[in-house]
Amino acid sequence: MKRWLPSPRALPLGSLVIAPVSYNSVLAQSSRCISFLLSLCVNLFAAGKAPTFLQPFIAGGVSIALSKGTRGVRPLCCGDAIRRLVAKCFCHGGKDEIAASFAGENFGVGCPGGVEVIAHSLRDTLRRHKDSDLALLKIDFRNAFNLLERDTFVRASSARFPAMEHWTRWCYESPPLLIYNHMCIFVSACGVQQGDPLGPLYFCCGLQQLVNKIKALDPIYQKWYMDDGGIVGPPDLLLKVWDILEKEGPALGLHLNPQKCEWSWLNGQNDKPCPIPGVPVTPTSQIQMLGVPLGSDDFVSGFVEGELLPTTRRVCAKLADFEDAQSAMYLLRLSYGIVRANHFMRTTPLSQWAEHAVEFDGIVRSTTESILKCPLPSPAYDQAGVSTRFGGLGIRKIVDHAPVAFSASWGSSRWQCKEKWLPIDGVSPRAPDQRSASEEVDRATLARLAVEGSARDKKRLNRLDCEHANSWITALPSATDGRDTILPPKIFIAAVCRLLGLRVYPDNTPCPLCKQTMDIYGDHALCCKRTGDMIARHNRVRNWLFKLCETGLLSPQMEKLGLLGPGDETRRRPGDVSFKLWKFGKGLAIDVAVICPLAISHMEEENPCEIYAAVQKHRRYDEGFRGSQYLFSAMVFETSGAVNEEGKNILKQIIRFASRSVSVGNSVYAGRAWARLGCVIQYGVAQSLLIREVGAGD
Ligand SMILES: [Zn+2]
Repeated sequence: MKRWLPSPRALPLGSLVIAPVSYNSVLAQSSRCISFLLSLCVNLFAAGKAPTFLQPFIAGGVSIALSKGTRGVRPLCCGDAIRRLVAKCFCHGGKDEIAASFAGENFGVGCPGGVEVIAHSLRDTLRRHKDSDLALLKIDFRNAFNLLERDTFVRASSARFPAMEHWTRWCYESPPLLIYNHMCIFVSACGVQQGDPLGPLYFCCGLQQLVNKIKALDPIYQKWYMDDGGIVGPPDLLLKVWDILEKEGPALGLHLNPQKCEWSWLNGQNDKPCPIPGVPVTPTSQIQMLGVPLGSDDFVSGFVEGELLPTTRRVCAKLADFEDAQSAMYLLRLSYGIVRANHFMRTTPLSQWAEHAVEFDGIVRSTTESILKCPLPSPAYDQAGVSTRFGGLGIRKIVDHAPVAFSASWGSSRWQCKEKWLPIDGVSPRAPDQRSASEEVDRATLARLAVEGSARDKKRLNRLDCEHANSWITALPSATDGRDTILPPKIFIAAVCRLLGLRVYPDNTPCPLCKQTMDIYGDHALCCKRTGDMIARHNRVRNWLFKLCETGLLSPQMEKLGLLGPGDETRRRPGDVSFKLWKFGKGLAIDVAVICPLAISHMEEENPCEIYAAVQKHRRYDEGFRGSQYLFSAMVFETSGAVNEEGKNILKQIIRFASRSVSVGNSVYAGRAWARLGCVIQYGVAQSLLIREVGAGD
């Protein structure tokens, strides 16, 4: 996009009505005036001061209809980008206030993990009162979001969150337009609008007066997740609840849907009918809430099996057929969320679905083997199950992680709703959060692998546990910042084999380039000086660094002569990349090296990159830089991706400069930069391996 400097008055509002993804590129690539104008614009809308003729369009949306198979259509609507942006700003800015306002009243807004809180709490209530005459009433409203009266929630939300009132009224006081199929126009006249990020908040505001009335009856349990409610109490109390909802709901646009409501006795022996006409009884053994099975062991097992395994099989079969190994592994990691494995790990005790967990792990393992096109020996599979942060592939074994995930979720849910729950076998009341608990599991696995493995394995695993060493594994294969992060399948698979300590060559293969016998793991290949591939690897990294410095507006120079002090006449060039101004008014010369920590010469060193920087670089060049206009720095990478401390700190600073010049937040840009660097190194590593494959050198 061309740089341009319009005055705020000249900003054509229509030009902002574009796809959200374009905002990022506009913000990233153009001058700062865009973000300045955008925030002016957002504030204008947020204050409800935007011209009303825009309202039908900005507050409206594009509507589509998806087929629900034989069950009709599912209408969806995407809100306008500006409207979504303003609403998201309110969500973000009011996060704490919203959470505090709904704490304990509705777990569907401002409550991370709300589903889990409800599931654990209801499970406890069911256990505690399993011999009582109490019942559970699950509420379902007909088309609740779309039928809620606008007047109700506009008034309720304005009273609760006055700062939003002008914006809420601007959007909802007159009905905006919906466009279907690019040509049919109709008005959105009632309900919370789909595609409004504040929609769930508005809904909960509108519903709240009914929740309060039920609360006044003092039921044993009442929890809502947006429009999904569950109430436990004696039958006569639940009849009163029904009465309230039936009489007062319609005025708000909330109409009970008796056939989809559920009544369950907490005592499994109770076989009386439901006292509310039209509401079916769900047996105690088959109770579930928000997709969490809470009934008998058999029911839970069957439920998880049906929800988890068929989708996993389907998703994994597709991934196994991917040509692109890197994308397939990326998606496989995401699929834990897609098939809701995480959901069951956190909400349902593993003892109730252990056999399905084993099967799930088996499917993931064989899918990984299909993607990598080789079988995984147990140690490699165990390493692959470790988080990508410590050098695994992040394909978590459910069997290992579900117990700590459940404990973590149970503990944090109990803390969130401040209730006292009956203890559960194997669940510690002071469980750490899932991240720390899973890290402990991973650390134990790595420690075991190091003990059981060879000296080389020990070293290999040890060098993976360095900051940024594994950033290439999680790199999003995307061309956003150039094509560095896209690794062709052969390259990616070779790099993963090195990572997991898998063999890359058959026994006793001679190096086609130097005729020495190569080790099966490829260590020789990474140190063989016979061809230019070591230089090529070095140059790849150097070029990447040069580009980064250019982006950071440092005006870098490559392999510049005469950096050393006035006394030097050797014509040495210890500056792969240099620039004239770094700090203290001096320039900086960076010398780059890429070494293999598993080479025989480095096997005994604890931190090969640090030692190499000190001995091979600083000891050689520091003297020469005395009196020079340049500071000298060694940036030594290991083929695992680790980098020496000095190099890391300098890179961090250059990344800061670069992120500023492209106007991307530093943490986001840094994540992508490290991933790109990791991929550049792995590309070079894999090339050295592949060039020596039997037949490749001929
Ligand atoms: Zn060789």
